[in-house]
Amino acid sequence: MIQTQKKVAIIGSGLVGSLLAIYLKKYGHDITVFDRRPDIRNVEFSGRSINLAMSNRGWNALHEVGIEEEIKKIAIPLDKRAMHVVGQPEYYQKYGKEGEAIWSISRGVLNRKMIDLAEEAGVVFKFEEKVWDVDLPEGKLFTGETEKGAWQEYQYDLIFGCDGAFSRVRHKMQRRSRFDYSQDFIDVGYKELTIAANEDGTHKLDRHSFHIWPRGKFMLIAMPNLDGSFTCTLFMPFEGEVSFENIKTNDDAKDFFKTYFPNVMQDLDNLLLDFFKNPTSAMVTMKCFPWTYWDKVALVGDSAHAIVPFYGQGMNAGFEDIFVLDALIKEHQDDWHTIFEAYEKVRKPNADAIAELSYRNFVEMSSKTADPKFLLQKKIEKYFASQHPDKWIPVYSRVTFSDRPYAEALAEGDAQEAIMKEVMSLPNIEEKWNSAEVENLILSLL
Ligand SMILES: Cc1cc2nc3c(=O)[nH]c(=O)nc-3n(C[C@H](O)[C@H](O)[C@H](O)COP(=O)(O)OP(=O)(O)OC[C@H]3O[C@@H](n4cnc5c(N)ncnc54)[C@H](O)[C@@H]3O)c2cc1C
Repeated sequence: MIQTQKKVAIIGSGLVGSLLAIYLKKYGHDITVFDRRPDIRNVEFSGRSINLAMSNRGWNALHEVGIEEEIKKIAIPLDKRAMHVVGQPEYYQKYGKEGEAIWSISRGVLNRKMIDLAEEAGVVFKFEEKVWDVDLPEGKLFTGETEKGAWQEYQYDLIFGCDGAFSRVRHKMQRRSRFDYSQDFIDVGYKELTIAANEDGTHKLDRHSFHIWPRGKFMLIAMPNLDGSFTCTLFMPFEGEVSFENIKTNDDAKDFFKTYFPNVMQDLDNLLLDFFKNPTSAMVTMKCFPWTYWDKVALVGDSAHAIVPFYGQGMNAGFEDIFVLDALIKEHQDDWHTIFEAYEKVRKPNADAIAELSYRNFVEMSSKTADPKFLLQKKIEKYFASQHPDKWIPVYSRVTFSDRPYAEALAEGDAQEAIMKEVMSLPNIEEKWNSAEVENLILSLL
């Protein structure tokens, strides 16, 4: 054993908290996970399940503790986007090279499985126990029914705040001097909708595709579930001409789907039901620093870096935090002060980079997809990449199918953007976009 056994508390039994518990249990620590919610394994999903895309970074972290294959059994590989563009037949865009795919997985099913695996390994879970306060220097936690009621006190050697974007642990750290914090909501919200399975249990749309209906300022996406259904997410401005605010009645919603999403009409009844039943949720980018307090407390996952979901990387980034933390534990053994210092130093620039990339993807999807100049630029990039796959790796591939740092992907993306700016300023670029002149210019600028 490379570590002295410690008493460890993890706040939050979400995806990040439960994976961190599995990792730390391997070192023989005594681990308790607190969650304010009931045990997700006993909660009915009420017919809908939010799903997530798992990619390389997530799989790497699961592989390291030997649970990748087990989790793959509950995931569906998606090797392409299926584009449902107005006025065009459905078409497909391969994500990457042969064999590269993102994986659709139900957040609830995954979370249940990870809690099972952590419990089997000997982790103790305390559900319906909300943490109200943390004494950072003393490593004390205070839980209870209400903020004003009686609290139970616990003492730990190490505390990990895996309590999500609105973290209580971070809240406590925020009150310290020189703690940086920012949060930015976007003016677009989202709503989960379902496309049910066919009667024979098969999928109504291609099951190995990530389906996208881009509509300028709003869009619908759909990812398959194992039971034949699809979970759709409608992203749309809260206010404005086409907005959540302006869809008030069943007829408004019916008109909306008929006008913009004619090929999901077969499921209209279901969609309408979900539309009025399910909440409209907000999306936030949250940044903070530092992420740790001495050798006692660390934030991991969304509590340290919540991002908008347009790159499908929030969970992947949280899992990568754990992977990096684990490598540092192996390197520095019992020296938690150094482990925590190195952890936040390595991860912070990468968390900022994926936050920026995710936000840019949001801007791109909502305001650029109808811009002919932008579409031409993308066409040139794609063409050049197909001619020189070793010289032009798209940012999407660097983020999704690689384990190189996010900050590197952002920097490479910026460098590519600068090249494309020159290319796009060539006279008559529309006519010569696939010419040798353009190809040579890019090669000379690389
Ligand atoms: C619409 C949408 C789509 C997304 N799609 C993707 C995707 O495709 N791929 C991807 O990688 N990521 C995606 N994400 C991001 C992903 O969902 C999050 O990054 C991930 O769930 C974060 O996990 P977490 O464990 O850090 O936090 P959470 O999942 O928020 O878990 C926090 C846990 O802490 C508990 N808790 C909170 N406060 C307390 C307290 N005071 N006391 C005790 N317990 C507490 C909560 O009950 C909860 O169980 C998406 C997010 C959204 C919103």
